[in-house]
Amino acid sequence: MFEGTRGSRIFIVHCLCANCQRPSSRRVPTPRAEGAPASVEEFIEALECNPVPFTCAHCESIIGELVGVTLEADDVAA
Ligand SMILES: [Zn+2]
Repeated sequence: MFEGTRGSRIFIVHCLCANCQRPSSRRVPTPRAEGAPASVEEFIEALECNPVPFTCAHCESIIGELVGVTLEADDVAA
């Protein structure tokens, strides 16, 4: 059974603010296109060439340390 084209994958980038040390996360929707990252590993590789802008929600610092990336489940019941 084909499910057809569904929406985008959403990666969640977890950072720790270099200034106030508080964790932040940012959701990064990625289209299901050829060449787009399909796994966390590929997404992290893409990040190295194309960093996601970081702004701390608490102190507005723009320096964050990447602590992890997770893939948000995109097949939750609508
Ligand atoms: Zn901060």
